[in-house]
Amino acid sequence: MPATITVSTSAREQFIDITDEVRDAVRQAGIQNGVVTIFVPHTTAAVTINENADPTVVTDMLLALDKAFPDQRAFRHAEGNSTAHVKSSVIGCSERVIVEDGRLALGVWQGIYFCEFDGPRTRSCYITAT
Ligand code: ZN
Repeated sequence: MPATITVSTSAREQFIDITDEVRDAVRQAGIQNGVVTIFVPHTTAAVTINENADPTVVTDMLLALDKAFPDQRAFRHAEGNSTAHVKSSVIGCSERVIVEDGRLALGVWQGIYFCEFDGPRTRSCYITAT
């Protein structure tokens, strides 16, 4: 620790399940009990925890975010990706998960998602534990 996960995204907006990668990082670091922090060092990406049993949940989340934060002509940021910046801040750039007896204490339906809002790109995700 800290470890870096590289995430290659293939669409402009996409949620990628990184639960297994986080689990591997915790295992490799030999963390038994504590808290793991997942941090995304980008301004148009994010990390969140949500259902990973039904893949349509994250599809619906992307739809809902588009409805809530549509592109607007009034935006002034010249790069043209203001909605991606807004979504990044709304979802957030870090998550924390309790580690108990070497295992992530996630709920049965929970997965950890890297959230791409301005892809496709090659992204990083930092993982550390305390
Ligand atoms: Zn920008």
